[in-house]
Amino acid sequence: MIPLTSELVAIGKTATDKADAIAQAVDLLTAAGKIDPRYGASMMGREAVANTFLGNGIAIPHGLPKDRDLILDTAIAVVQLPGGVEWGPGDRARLVVAIAAKSDEHLQVLSNLTDVLGDEAEAERLATTTDPAVIVARLTGAEMPAAAPQPAVEDFAQGFDAVVDGAHGLHARPATTIVEIAKGFDAEIRVRHGAKTGNAKSLISLLNLGAAQGAALRISAEGPQAEAALAALQAAFAEGLEKEEDTGAAAPEATAPGLTGAMATQSAYEGRLLPGVSSSPGFAIAPVFKFARDEVTFAENGADAGIERAALEAALKTAWHQLEELHDEVWKKSGPARAAIFRAHQEFLEDPEMRAAAEALIDQGRSAAFAWHAVYTERADMLAAMKDTVLAGRAIDLRDAGLRVLQELGEVKSAEAHLPTAPCILVADDLTPSDTARLDPELVRGLCTAAGGPTSHTSIIARSLDIPAVVGAGAAVLDLPTGTPALLDGAAGVLVAAPSEADIARAKAAMEALAAERDVEARERYKPALSPDGARVEVVANISDVAEAHAAVEAGAEGVGLLRTEFLFVNREAPPSEDEQVEIYSAMLGAMNGLPIIIRTLDVGGDKEIPYLRMPVEENPFLGERGIRFCLSHEDIFRTQLRAIFRASAHGPVRIMFPMIAMVSELEAALRIAEEVRAEVRAAPVEMGIMIEIPSAVMMARELAEKVDFFSIGTNDLTQYALAMDRMHPVLAKQADGLHPAVLRLIDQTVRAADAAGIWVGACGGIAGDPLGARILSGLGVQELSVSIPSVAGVKAVLRRAPMAENRALAERALAAADAATVRALA
Ligand code: PEP
Ligand code: MG
Repeated sequence: MIPLTSELVAIGKTATDKADAIAQAVDLLTAAGKIDPRYGASMMGREAVANTFLGNGIAIPHGLPKDRDLILDTAIAVVQLPGGVEWGPGDRARLVVAIAAKSDEHLQVLSNLTDVLGDEAEAERLATTTDPAVIVARLTGAEMPAAAPQPAVEDFAQGFDAVVDGAHGLHARPATTIVEIAKGFDAEIRVRHGAKTGNAKSLISLLNLGAAQGAALRISAEGPQAEAALAALQAAFAEGLEKEEDTGAAAPEATAPGLTGAMATQSAYEGRLLPGVSSSPGFAIAPVFKFARDEVTFAENGADAGIERAALEAALKTAWHQLEELHDEVWKKSGPARAAIFRAHQEFLEDPEMRAAAEALIDQGRSAAFAWHAVYTERADMLAAMKDTVLAGRAIDLRDAGLRVLQELGEVKSAEAHLPTAPCILVADDLTPSDTARLDPELVRGLCTAAGGPTSHTSIIARSLDIPAVVGAGAAVLDLPTGTPALLDGAAGVLVAAPSEADIARAKAAMEALAAERDVEARERYKPALSPDGARVEVVANISDVAEAHAAVEAGAEGVGLLRTEFLFVNREAPPSEDEQVEIYSAMLGAMNGLPIIIRTLDVGGDKEIPYLRMPVEENPFLGERGIRFCLSHEDIFRTQLRAIFRASAHGPVRIMFPMIAMVSELEAALRIAEEVRAEVRAAPVEMGIMIEIPSAVMMARELAEKVDFFSIGTNDLTQYALAMDRMHPVLAKQADGLHPAVLRLIDQTVRAADAAGIWVGACGGIAGDPLGARILSGLGVQELSVSIPSVAGVKAVLRRAPMAENRALAERALAAADAATVRALA
């Protein structure tokens, strides 16, 4: 706890202006030996770039991070100005809380202020008391208000009680789940935690509840669909709002240093230890590089409220679309769970309370940039001040999403030059998901952040990119100049500055052992996946663009088992023309150099919405006009694509695959159209196949098999439809495991039907790339596995090691298991 004594509190003062008020606080801090008086200039510097007025008459001037060395001893000083002083247009500060903090000790003070911010009477008491001890007691948390404050907002009559069950409380993703559910209903929904009440449709408002694990909540609703909304929310609470990944279970060594073997490992180093928390395992040896972020400048006042409102609206829209692209990109690379954070960022941008607050400031004459900046930084500061570290960690997500909008509104001074150009260990105060997405994993050998935790998205993304990372290493890491030789031990959670030769030798030995295994796999990536008992499985790749076609070959893929063509249709204003598609497919075939490509026709709908296609708004898009259904009702788009595929087929071996076939009649219609198109363009016949990803297709596999040359099992969708669990569902997705015996039995049935008809079966869903999944699927008789590019070499290696007889026995046991966990335990 930061010390605050009565000498650092000045009561009953007056100030001519903001600078005078800050100067008074600086005098107090200087007299107490806490700061070099030049820190006052730093505080004024901060005022030039940020608004430190929190609301309810409270301002928190503080210096710029670069001037931390002017702080001799962390402290705060309070200047009480009962008459107030103008802090910004329309803002009068009556309690000036000047903060000089070397790191984050002041957060507790901010946290105590957070309560005062919502309590006008308490703010008035502090602004007028004649006893400095009252302020000291309030800001140090020694004294809490005598009686528990009454909820400012009443609960609605209908409601239920719930308890927050996730280890990290009601943080961004569980709160996003609530918001997503709540937004689907025409009802006003309140969530109360103690005296605080939040709007269930506002992510920030929910985060501000500060509800930690075990917190009791009251959820109440009013309006036409109140009952249904409450039922849906109650079911979500009963199910649990957390995913495994949210709980930190996925984080290796998600413990504080000193609690486990990590400390022992750390202390074995001889260089200067900068301990943090393990975030992503692995070693990196490279010079330090300090990361810098773009700076945005903007005017405080706007020209015209109408224009500024429109500018804000446009910026929010642009930022939302950027997040959509980022989401799709990460989704493609790392799957829906990893991409989910960008959905949460979109949620921030849609937050009705933030928008209303920004518009209110605009109406008072502020520019859109100033208003938006004030609104999101105020809320992010409040989040950052929360006691719960995971909730506090979400402040960075809000700042990230906020900055994205601000960059559209202000003038951006690019920090591009501050991105690394040579291999490095990148050091930053914290990294936002957007920052991380900009980094070149080729150059960033390791990541170390002063703030952040193992469940932060920096950590999740670092793990998915396979970059060793340490988080929460404290402000000291920011003092390391760029170029400092360093070693990062991700598993031990430590950055070692100026490591000794012995340190480097040890880390290198460990790195070599780790790399050796991957090297063997990589070296043998072009060898076929031939089992010791002579069974061959083809390992091919899932791709979505030309660059990935090149990468797939380089990774050892024996072809492409799934080209997701919908990615050629996203992020543009109109569908790609026939010629454009011919060019793309031909370029891919060129890259494959004779290896076959399975081109899947457009699979839009479900979670893939393409604005210019004006797809219908559906209650259940995954059960709506998706995949082949969309193509059959938009024949022009379908025919254009088929023409392009057949024309490109002159450049290499092509197979055509239809997605989401549920019924024989759909297949017949699609085949008829394809045949007409083929005749038109006078192309040679190609192999025709379908995705098996709907249970009805499994049931009809015998009939379907008679009409095509191959099946490819889409285990992602087959799992979601078999288990009736939305594959994107924030709560259910973790149970939607493709290794569930129900799914495996459907696959078994499919393979048997295909065998009877004499056609081959592949699989292209997520479990094909899972080492255990690859063995079980091949044991079930699947002959081709289409996996993500980074998994190609590993899957081939697994299949080369395991005799097929063993895979068959494994598959038998998996089919007989009662649940997915039992199947996974077979590994
Ligand atoms: C699947 O459903 O398993 C599949 C591979 O297709 P997508 O993930 O593109 O729906
Ligand atoms: Mg699918």
